[in-house]
Amino acid sequence: MKFLKQVSDYTKETVQAAKFIGQGLAVTFDHMQRRPVTVQYPYEKLIPSERFRGRIHFEFDKCIACEVCVRVCPINLPVVDWEFNPETKKKKLNHYSIDFGVCIFCGNCVEYCPTNCLSMTEEYELSTYDRHELNYDNVALGRLPYKVTEDPMVTPLREFAYLPKGVIEPHGLPAGSRRAGLRPEEIVDTEK
Ligand code: SF4
Ligand code: SF4
Repeated sequence: MKFLKQVSDYTKETVQAAKFIGQGLAVTFDHMQRRPVTVQYPYEKLIPSERFRGRIHFEFDKCIACEVCVRVCPINLPVVDWEFNPETKKKKLNHYSIDFGVCIFCGNCVEYCPTNCLSMTEEYELSTYDRHELNYDNVALGRLPYKVTEDPMVTPLREFAYLPKGVIEPHGLPAGSRRAGLRPEEIVDTEK
């Protein structure tokens, strides 16, 4: 009886192992039918989506040193260095900085700035060897962002949301192919 039970267990395990190998191979064969979706970064880059919250851009001349950005920031991050000018009876901005090593890119400061001098860009490549280099002063913040679509060294690829319906691969799209659904400006037009 013991021998028969051993044979029975062995047969069950063999059948189960064959089933699992079959399931694994089914996934492999399924992927052999698909085209690769690999993005050859950094030679190719995906175009970030419209509302991407990347590195913040700051316009020094528009800032009125009101410090609203500091109050709405969950970690009181922006540093607004100003002094009162008795002649003009107005605040004079000396320096402005945001430390992107600490910023959580929530966009609150951009949303609430009364003069719109802050904006979120599509820049996401901020890595450095020293985290202190992520503390951007007003000069670094005022630098215009690099756009993937304007970089001559990079082939821009459409992100999934920009691809035509049913397409999952951004390479070799026919010229003029439209993304699925309406663009934001087209949605605005339909609501007029
Ligand atoms: S909210 Fe805008 S205007 Fe006010 S201090 Fe911040 S960046 Fe300057
Ligand atoms: S994006 Fe958010 S965390 Fe970063 S500075 Fe603005 S409010 Fe603060």
